[in-house]
Amino acid sequence: MLQQVNGHSSGSDAHGGESLREDLQEFLSGEAPLHQLDDLTKVNPVTLETVLRCLQARYMADTFYTSAGCTLVALNPFKPIPQLYSPDLMQEYHAAPQPQKLKPHIFTVGEQTYRNVKSLIEPVNQSIVVSGESGAGKTWTSRCLMKFYAVVAASPTSWENHKIAERIEQRILNSNPVMEAFGNACTLRNNNSSRFGKFIQLQLNRAQQMTGAAVQTYLLEKTRVACQASSERNFHIFYQICKGASADERLQWHLPEGAAFSWLPNPERTLEEDCFEVTREAMLHLGIDAPTQNNIFQVRGKTTPLTCGSGDGQLFDWLVSVINSSICADPDSWTTFIGLLDVYGFESFPTNSLEQLCINYANEKLQQHFVAHYLRAQQEEYTAEGLEWSTLSYQDNQTCLDLIEGSPVSICSLINEECRLNRPSSAAQLQTRIESALAGSPCLGHSKLSREPSFIVVHYAGSVRYHTAGLVEKNKDPIPPELTRLLQQSQDPLLKVLFPADPEEKSQEEPSGQSRAPVLTVVSKFKASLEQLLQVLHSTTPHYIRCIKPNSQGRAQMFHQEEVLSQLEACGLVETIHISAAGFPIRVSHRNFLERYKLLRRLRPGAAPSPHGPPPDEGRSEWSPHSKQATLQALLQDILHTLPALARAPAEA
Ligand code: ATP
Ligand code: MG
Repeated sequence: MLQQVNGHSSGSDAHGGESLREDLQEFLSGEAPLHQLDDLTKVNPVTLETVLRCLQARYMADTFYTSAGCTLVALNPFKPIPQLYSPDLMQEYHAAPQPQKLKPHIFTVGEQTYRNVKSLIEPVNQSIVVSGESGAGKTWTSRCLMKFYAVVAASPTSWENHKIAERIEQRILNSNPVMEAFGNACTLRNNNSSRFGKFIQLQLNRAQQMTGAAVQTYLLEKTRVACQASSERNFHIFYQICKGASADERLQWHLPEGAAFSWLPNPERTLEEDCFEVTREAMLHLGIDAPTQNNIFQVRGKTTPLTCGSGDGQLFDWLVSVINSSICADPDSWTTFIGLLDVYGFESFPTNSLEQLCINYANEKLQQHFVAHYLRAQQEEYTAEGLEWSTLSYQDNQTCLDLIEGSPVSICSLINEECRLNRPSSAAQLQTRIESALAGSPCLGHSKLSREPSFIVVHYAGSVRYHTAGLVEKNKDPIPPELTRLLQQSQDPLLKVLFPADPEEKSQEEPSGQSRAPVLTVVSKFKASLEQLLQVLHSTTPHYIRCIKPNSQGRAQMFHQEEVLSQLEACGLVETIHISAAGFPIRVSHRNFLERYKLLRRLRPGAAPSPHGPPPDEGRSEWSPHSKQATLQALLQDILHTLPALARAPAEA
């Protein structure tokens, strides 16, 4: 049955005319306090401005979560609120008969997914897509959800089992500080910015206990090792080493006495007080022992050409594989999973390059998946309810995806081709190629005003100008064969693992001795991993959390309308609400509707009996979709007749 999401008008208080009168007066006068509006589909009219005003009112009233149809909007509080994430509150949502009637919260989504996996006869895997711009709270949200599952999906059966479950949950939680130490950095927009995308699959057994997890990462920003924007920092781990290494370790890792590495930007800012210990402890829990840790930090400490990008990527991938082998359950010990996707949001900077192209491409894919899935889900719901509805139109971003990834020719294919041909070509030539080969696409904008070679893509979330300088080089991302050969001769066992000899290296060499460009480019690898991710998402029931950053200063109780507005535009929230509202924006269960409004049928003088007969015993028996709809229509007509008089009547009438 369709359920009304907003708790304040649910069926429990529905027996008197009093609450109905209040509802109607509030509705007619439009005076419902904005901050009490838990569900944005009920904002009237749905415009960027009204949605913004509602979110602002809620934020200033310390209310951070709001439903928006199938999406949960999460505003970053920028202040610690322990009671909002306490184990007690987790249990409250977990134990609630209908968690969706409690205040909107990430635990509502967490519990919903957990129940969906549990309650269906044929269990269906679930996924939660957490999106938003940098600093909006995606990683925080994902971490809280992981803690939520660690609590609600723990094994309660026996002490022995409980210990095992605890160990697994703890290990899964320990993967966060390790990946964040090696993959997060302090940027202008977020002191703890994830420089990679992450999909974590929480694996559940038949009893819905968490037995393990698997992590997949996407597109680590490797270039950060070698260069950072001014005032930004390198990956956390370097600062942690500088801050936390003992005198012996400093000597061993070639770290200058009492100082940071000379090449490390902004070491004076101290964010990593005790983090090195936390990272090491977490690594130990994941099975990375002290000698292996020593090898890792030694690799990090030496600044050899290895640490310039490719080495960092190899090490990060290796760490992720070690984490996976530590937390992944046996294939036959789990049956279902809940996936958590912490993915970078749409990006548009003054200068955009391959990283932004990949990130925005991923966002286009996810947006397409979101719209397609959500419309399909609505259709199925209406059909099951026997409701009449007309096909919903929505903005299809296929044209933009064709421009980026389509065949036979697209932006990706052209950049890849340049890599394959391995010929000297200028940034201007690439721009010309893209503009002439893809001139027919309505999503390719014109870049006449730019002094630097670039092209514009009209994304669903806005137009972005991409600079072509350096695109091809970044896309090649080669590890020079000379470096691999050199590192293979190293005494360090970790280096040998990180840079395995390529058995095909010889056959790849041209007769002249010049090596050919690698066929596997950044774009092609990213495209493949994105397709794999989408396949996984398609096989699940998805849920969406859109994180919003209320201001760029990271301050509590500060709401910058313009900044929020651009985020609402970028995530297409108003469109999402329209899609939700285009069908049937108010959702009341059939029984609740009868309970609440049957009074009107008695109030209206001379109301004709329904041609379909009286409701069968107030909705307790089985209804065919036809009779259900006919009765609801009759009741609605009564309401429309009675409503104006009732709203005018004094309370005591
Ligand atoms: P990026 O894309 O850069 O990785 P992000 O969306 O993952 O950004 P987070 O790192 O999750 O952003 O959040 C940024 C900061 O905002 C956190 O370090 C924390 O200080 C604060 N924050 C986020 N969510 C909350 C919350 N629910 N309660 C309190 N503080 C929060
Ligand atoms: Mg993050």
